[in-house]
Amino acid sequence: MQLTYKYRLKPTKAQQTTIAAHLELCRRQYNYRLGERFRWWESTRTPINACPLIASIVPVEEIYKNIPLTRVQTRDGRKKDDAGNPVTRKGDIFSNIDGGYVQWQTVQLADLKNTKKFFPDYKILDSQVLQDVVNRVETSFSNFTTPDQNGHRKGKPKFKGLHYYKSFTYPQLDNLDIIKDEQNRICIDLGKIGRVPIAFHRSIPPGFKVKAGTVIREADGWYISLTLEDKTVPATVVEIQPTDKNTLGIDLGITNYVYLSNGERIENPRFLRKSAEKLAKLKSKLADRVKGSKPWQIIKNKISRLHQFVARTRLDFQFKIAHELFSKCDVLVVEDLSIKNLTRRTKIKTDIEDNKLVYLPNGQAAKSGLNKSMLDAAHGQLIAVLKYVAWKLGKGVLFVNPKGTSQHCWNCLNKVPKELSERWHSCQCGESLDRDENSAKLIKRIGLNYHESGGGTSSLKKALVQREKEACGLTEYR
Ligand SMILES: [Zn+2]
Repeated sequence: MQLTYKYRLKPTKAQQTTIAAHLELCRRQYNYRLGERFRWWESTRTPINACPLIASIVPVEEIYKNIPLTRVQTRDGRKKDDAGNPVTRKGDIFSNIDGGYVQWQTVQLADLKNTKKFFPDYKILDSQVLQDVVNRVETSFSNFTTPDQNGHRKGKPKFKGLHYYKSFTYPQLDNLDIIKDEQNRICIDLGKIGRVPIAFHRSIPPGFKVKAGTVIREADGWYISLTLEDKTVPATVVEIQPTDKNTLGIDLGITNYVYLSNGERIENPRFLRKSAEKLAKLKSKLADRVKGSKPWQIIKNKISRLHQFVARTRLDFQFKIAHELFSKCDVLVVEDLSIKNLTRRTKIKTDIEDNKLVYLPNGQAAKSGLNKSMLDAAHGQLIAVLKYVAWKLGKGVLFVNPKGTSQHCWNCLNKVPKELSERWHSCQCGESLDRDENSAKLIKRIGLNYHESGGGTSSLKKALVQREKEACGLTEYR
């Protein structure tokens, strides 16, 4: 079980300057390492749909010139085999290039000593913090180049401007790093920064160990987010047997934030939309000021504070909803949002008129508005909150595949096609109810009857297959 607890840091003036300097060094290092990856990537790739006649414009030797071919291990590896001997040993030689691909993460990690040699500024930085920057580059780059299990790649990583690099991470913190100083204040001991006073508003739950800490810059100051881990507690597993009585299905949406399978609903508060007017005013004010000037900075800060306010109200609301929902039931059935990619562009529709290519209306404007509301609703965050609250209260969350849950009838499982604007579901079998309520009921039905004991999400497809089988069985019997 992993938790993250966020605390406010109360650094002194001197510490504030140091933390800001560390963050800036991390940002520069990130951009530099990202640039290194991009240079190699752009000079070595070829599009798969167009075979190049000549291999590469840049000679191979040029590409690999600054990359050492091998690296020598400087100490015994931490991983040990069954006999207790380290798997890798000091002096072992590894190749930096594997099948034509440069092992960038290890190359860049090994290159950090040169960074410290040529840019002595970096000596003030904790070495693990610096290593974490390289790991961040690796994560964002591999997310971009390798598709996930659904076949989607993340967007191209961006170089981070002054206001867009907001945190750095200590990958190995410890419970012992939270200590009291001479003035009896609770402090956190951060490498190369020292003891920073912290608003310790909640204690670390018994059994949990501090694993890592991320120092974050927010609109109103510095925070630290601690990752806590208890290996003895397994991640959320439904131990309660879901039954028709103790289970509720919920449909997440825009018009109704949550629609419950018992017919109740919670309206969408539309947090960002409410502050939109205020935001627009501030933004037009910002446009009038000289970029980077003092008045500009003041307004910029007001904007970030407004965003922070919206985010906090939203999170608070989601916690309240979670507690309300679990007061009504023991198990919640929710759609698994990681399966569906909701915020995407619609397909372009074209036609030829008078020998000219014409773009037809494809509903992108409506979809854009929906996307905005979707992001404002932050359903993914709600699910994370539901999981956490379930764990805290000893209740359960079940997931179902969302595919088809808004189109099929919950009672007879037949398909009843609907446009986005149609809010009512009426089926030939006699069911007539709000479309969201239908979805909630269907989600509950799938989650209850077709849930698999060995993990894996239940889906409408399985339900339909099952129905088919039962129908066949009945006719044979007759
Ligand atoms: Zn029906």
